[in-house]
Amino acid sequence: MTQSIHEVLQRVFGYPGFLGQQEAVIEHTAAGGDSLVLMPTGGGKSLCYQIPAIVREGVGVVVSPLIALMRDQVEGLRQTGVRAACLNSTLTWPEVQEVEAAVRSGGLDLLYVAPERLLGERTLEMLSRTRLALFAIDEAHCVSQWGHDFRPEYLQLSVLHERFPDVPRIALTATADEPTRREIAQRLQLRDAALFVSGFDRPNIRYSVVPKNNARAQLGRFLEERHRGHAGIVYCLSRRRVDDTAEWLRGEGVNAVPYHAGLSGGTRQRHQDRFQREEGVVVVATVAFGMGIDKPDVRFVAHLDLPKSIEAYYQETGRAGRDGEPADAWMVYGLQEVVTLRHMVENSEAGEDRKRVELRKLDAMLGYCELATCRRRTLLSYFGEDLPEPCGNCDNCLVPVTTWDATEAARKAMSCVHRTGQRFGTAYLIDVLRGRDTERIRQFGHDRLPTYGVGADLGPYEWRSVFRQLVARGLLSVDVEGYGSIRLTGDSRPVLRGDAEVLMRRDVRPTARKARRRRGEPEPPPDPATWDEALWESLRKRRTELAAAQGVPPYVIFHDSTLREMIAQRPRTSDDFSQLTGVGDTKLRRYGADFLAVITAHEGGSVPG
Ligand code: ADP
Ligand code: ZN
Repeated sequence: MTQSIHEVLQRVFGYPGFLGQQEAVIEHTAAGGDSLVLMPTGGGKSLCYQIPAIVREGVGVVVSPLIALMRDQVEGLRQTGVRAACLNSTLTWPEVQEVEAAVRSGGLDLLYVAPERLLGERTLEMLSRTRLALFAIDEAHCVSQWGHDFRPEYLQLSVLHERFPDVPRIALTATADEPTRREIAQRLQLRDAALFVSGFDRPNIRYSVVPKNNARAQLGRFLEERHRGHAGIVYCLSRRRVDDTAEWLRGEGVNAVPYHAGLSGGTRQRHQDRFQREEGVVVVATVAFGMGIDKPDVRFVAHLDLPKSIEAYYQETGRAGRDGEPADAWMVYGLQEVVTLRHMVENSEAGEDRKRVELRKLDAMLGYCELATCRRRTLLSYFGEDLPEPCGNCDNCLVPVTTWDATEAARKAMSCVHRTGQRFGTAYLIDVLRGRDTERIRQFGHDRLPTYGVGADLGPYEWRSVFRQLVARGLLSVDVEGYGSIRLTGDSRPVLRGDAEVLMRRDVRPTARKARRRRGEPEPPPDPATWDEALWESLRKRRTELAAAQGVPPYVIFHDSTLREMIAQRPRTSDDFSQLTGVGDTKLRRYGADFLAVITAHEGGSVPG
């Protein structure tokens, strides 16, 4: 090896040190060992194969399912002076030939390939005649048939081991659970590989769940209060809701675009490009948008509908804050979605086993929503990790939730369900409990039931919370065939009989919560001693100009954190500039003078004399 891995880290990427397990993985891979790397999103997986590919002889081949993002990844590498290219279906024939020629002549450090392209005989043939540094299999969980990102082509990647037994392989994923891990090791024949598991905590992400009241208005307020002008993702379950929400947000002055499988490929690509390249774009999307979104400065992920499982939720929310700066994972949740999701599962084509698994996952997700304790702790424990202290950065830690003895309320609710024949949904049941005088109630004679009016002490908001929590805990169930009618379960009996107590979280009504939030948790301001808004704007402007001139996203020039360092450090010489995090030799040469000029001009304008 001609260069040490530390040299490459500093001179090429401009980073002063490794993060977490990076160094161990890189040393192992650079020395030719196989490995399986589990690291959270934003943990720095890319360097784990990029640096070994650079220091080892030959080209490093990266298998990635994310064709749409390859171009940006390659661009990011080229900006740092690494010789990178990609092969996928979006290239023209002359472009393909050019890349192949570069591979053959040994002129590349890294080659990104889509799996179907890699598995083609033409590519395998070419690689068999080329010196290879390594194979990196990114998003390795795509090999898992039970997972949500299954790609059939990934199953055939074991051919790499058979055809290229001497080339080290490194498989990487952010999906942590044990069955997936075993499946990857088995299917990719990595059973003898070294396993590197990092902590999955994402401390910069703040998790919150709020009871759904009026989802749109709640989203509007959340954006207004915390994320004005920020880039983010809003997930919805249906295409229709995606379209409606995006349109509504645009009406509110938010730079929002829709993304779902019903839009043409061209439109989807355009919207994704805008998200990657412009600042402050909000994508409203179904889960079709997502895997491996490579944008480091996504400031929030909002869920207007419940995800199907905790794994899916963790992966989706993990797209926020990859740059390590504060970010929000925010969700509104109501009983209606439980009905919708259960319905989807039960009416799917899947076999009974699979349905049972999916319903269990959904229940775990509900349990998460109704937590009264630290959310991060529960999330991490789901992935087998133990957080010794409450995190201090989730809604329940920031504004502790009180619980109340809801035994009486639960009995009233259950009794009402029982006496009305288990045929009605929550809205009707709440009307009966609160003793409302409606024609429907009179028609059914339910105004003569003993439960009629026994719940007048609680408002509709509180009752909705009671029903939701009872369903979430399996003390009541929702009959998805019967238009969401509520039914008793085996676990209802002890409560009805008065043999079991029920404690519930006290949901705070949105108005009250808003007031509290304002007082309790201001955004951490930038250091006022050094911060300079005008300089920030000038630096961002220059970055946008440089990016636009090359047709690349701004963050491949410099991340926000590097610009912020410029403000704090005020470098004057190119030597000073090279000390900034994220400035390697190539970027120093390309952009040092540009940004130094901005800083000098600014200082000249504001420093007297
Ligand atoms: P992942 O693929 O695991 O989600 P990335 O490889 O995209 O993560 O890295 C996440 C972010 O962390 C990127 O913005 C990257 O530039 C940055 N990063 C990676 N390694 C380091 C390091 N050693 N020092 C500083 N920043 C790093
Ligand atoms: Zn917490």
